[in-house]
Amino acid sequence: MKSPPNKTPSLVDPFGRTVDYLRLSVTDRCNLRCTYCMAEDMTFLPKQQILSLEELRDAAAVFVELGIRKIRLTGGEPLIRCDIVKLVSSLAALPGLDEVTMTTNGVLLPALAQPLKDAGLSRLNISIDSLNADRFRQLTRVGDLHEVIAGIKAAGAAGFKKVKLNAVILAGFNDDEIIDLARFAVDHGMDISFIEEMPLGEINSHKRVNTQISSSSLRDKLDSKFTLFDSTETTGGPSRYLQVANSECKIGFISPMSNNFCESCNRVRMTAEGRLLLCLGNEHSIDLREVLRSHPGDSGLLKSKILEALKDKPERHYFDPEQVNIVRFMNMTGG
Ligand code: SAM
Ligand code: SF4
Repeated sequence: MKSPPNKTPSLVDPFGRTVDYLRLSVTDRCNLRCTYCMAEDMTFLPKQQILSLEELRDAAAVFVELGIRKIRLTGGEPLIRCDIVKLVSSLAALPGLDEVTMTTNGVLLPALAQPLKDAGLSRLNISIDSLNADRFRQLTRVGDLHEVIAGIKAAGAAGFKKVKLNAVILAGFNDDEIIDLARFAVDHGMDISFIEEMPLGEINSHKRVNTQISSSSLRDKLDSKFTLFDSTETTGGPSRYLQVANSECKIGFISPMSNNFCESCNRVRMTAEGRLLLCLGNEHSIDLREVLRSHPGDSGLLKSKILEALKDKPERHYFDPEQVNIVRFMNMTGG
């Protein structure tokens, strides 16, 4: 896939930021129940409220016509959506889209990694927060670490342009594993990003204020075990990267709590029910499903709704771990 040359981006917000990246959530459901992401008892959206494959594709096509160059599929868990491979092929065929990527918990990758690669998915981010099977189970409530490791190996073998690991680090829970996680990534020839926990949704497993740990303190620990160089690499995401000496691998930090990266924000999100979110840290959203369903095929109307919505993209997010400012859980938001 190649972008047409000299295409003027039309998605520019009032702060002069060009939006060329869409995170598309394909389901709010998941086969895991990570404690920092979901409450124990979750109510999921009724199926009829979720966008169909065709609606997802039609909405994506309009975003691409407006200047979106990269789409990341997410959720919930995107791989539990039937026909996900078909969706990837239909998105990969959109003229003007450079990349279709995905964030997954990896559980279903042993069967799906190769079909996804063959369908045109270029990169994968796989979440793995612990290498200890008991701890992994506790953190995900139901997960089996060995399935995720098998998924990571399957992704490694499938020939993606890049596979990156993601780990949310919770103080007092898995912060003692960052060296092991980084070494695991290097041993598998993959990059890894460490993510600060965000206060999205009211959870019952822990108090988020007690599990906060900043990227800078993680960096200090990593510096004692690895030789790390500043990297100029940007992947269109909020990770800041360090190069691991004598390897192809990078360690990234996603620091929404300690280091606001909003000035370079280039993205919007669409939830599985078709709500356009202009910012991860704000409740404001626009209902695009209503347009898709009451005016099917009217791409002009959808375009004007999206352009109008962009005028309200907030300048930045404000997170306070002492409070739940955002009631939306991350599985709804599409991380
Ligand atoms: N199920 C897939 C997965 O876990 O990779 C995709 C969706 S998940 C919501 C996307 C990413 O968001 C994961 O890396 C997950 O660890 C992260 N995440 C979920 N809740 C979070 C929170 N409250 N703060 C920071 N990251 C969170
Ligand atoms: Fe599921 Fe991903 Fe949320 Fe974990 S982080 S519960 S895998 S959506």
